[in-house]
Amino acid sequence: MDQWVTTERSGGRTGDGAPGEAGNAPREPGPDARRRIPRTDAVLRDPRLREAARRLGADAVKSAVHRAQERARDGAVEPEAVADTAVALLPRSASGLRPVINATGVLLHTNLGRASLSAAARRAVQEAAGPTDVELDLHTGVRARRGRTALAALRERVPSAAAAHVVNNGAAALVLAATALAAGREIVVSRGEMVEIGDGFRLPDLLVSTGARLREVGTTNRTTAADYAGAIGPDTAFVLKVHPSNFRITGFTRAAEVGELAPLGVPVVVDIGSGLLAPHPLLPEEPDAESRLRAGAALVTASGDKLLGGPQCGLLLGREETVRTLSRHPLARALRVDKLTLAALEATLTGPGTPTGEALAADPASLLRRAERLAALLGADGIDVRAVGSSATVGGGGAPGVTLPSAALSLPERWAAALRTGPVPVVGRLEAGRCLLDLRAVPERDDERLAGAVRSAAGR
Ligand SMILES: *Cc1c(COP(=O)(O)O)cnc(C)c1O
Repeated sequence: MDQWVTTERSGGRTGDGAPGEAGNAPREPGPDARRRIPRTDAVLRDPRLREAARRLGADAVKSAVHRAQERARDGAVEPEAVADTAVALLPRSASGLRPVINATGVLLHTNLGRASLSAAARRAVQEAAGPTDVELDLHTGVRARRGRTALAALRERVPSAAAAHVVNNGAAALVLAATALAAGREIVVSRGEMVEIGDGFRLPDLLVSTGARLREVGTTNRTTAADYAGAIGPDTAFVLKVHPSNFRITGFTRAAEVGELAPLGVPVVVDIGSGLLAPHPLLPEEPDAESRLRAGAALVTASGDKLLGGPQCGLLLGREETVRTLSRHPLARALRVDKLTLAALEATLTGPGTPTGEALAADPASLLRRAERLAALLGADGIDVRAVGSSATVGGGGAPGVTLPSAALSLPERWAAALRTGPVPVVGRLEAGRCLLDLRAVPERDDERLAGAVRSAAGR
């Protein structure tokens, strides 16, 4: 990434071309030019490429050099530009994942990897990257429960949970619950809660894939406790409540509360989706783990990378015996999280606020001040930009129907592609013929990077 920016400045170009580019129409180089193409080992002695080999691996660097030599042979670049060209062709980092600025105004954007980790969580991931005591008690020298400190942190934050378990994501949490508690038996669920969570994944399909049978009750808009009671029988494994986290039904509606279902004599499992551990003052409609367990749920499942603001994982919180059944099921091993996830989760739970929490709580007036400052700065460079009020959302991760007042930079719509593909990719949203860069999910410390990205997209 740094490499790319450096090259960009010195070469003053965009895209995948290379410095010393010999015009658009490649011409056949003469035998003399071909002889001047440097050998691979000579090019590899360039200090920039040696540094890159330490960062990216020798193979990636060699491949860039070979492609640069190829371009020189084709006459696309001068032989003297092979090293510069190889530098320009290097991958930006060892991973193809590009860091982006989320200016969509959707706080938890699944396509952008949902929650952004806190600084504490990032540090924890870094520290856990080497050998750690994830499954070893250093005092006794014997094996210990995997991720025990993260699990303890989880229980601390949710006092009504007697036990906790963590798997790979929210869907895995549901699959484990359905497999371990209901395979070959029935799960009673409301017709109003048979949801698709996105990209074609439908919770009913997921549940049925475990060998459990779904017993649908009620109607799309109304389901009462009596509907559940009428369906419960000897074959019922549990009643499932699913939070419709990406849509809302309004009007003539009715849903049974956990408190009404808990006395029916079968365990109530609640998929709260968003991962709020306790009620959030700004999101009164959003279910939280503590309240649901206190109301009598036997088990709550949730995602770690939605409103909790942590790494991708699935949380399972609830009664001791229920959680034990899950964590001891053979499938639990296949859904086990790695040490990096456990580290990030624990730091999210115990550390300072998360970027998601900060974005949620951001003051609209200060967002507008930031937008106005940036607009003035960029406007002074002759860029067509305005500061405008806007509406942000939490996203598929939770709080459907909730809009958060926000502020944005309004730019020409046609700049959206250049913003996405620039040196610092920015993803905005198109609205009424303009490209809006919404600031609610952009941390303030990224304002200068954002301004730089806009300048670059505007060609300034
Ligand atoms: C997001 C969500 C899921 C799926 O969780 P992942 O972590 O994406 O696997 C399941 N149920 C509900 C209600 C959700 O909101």
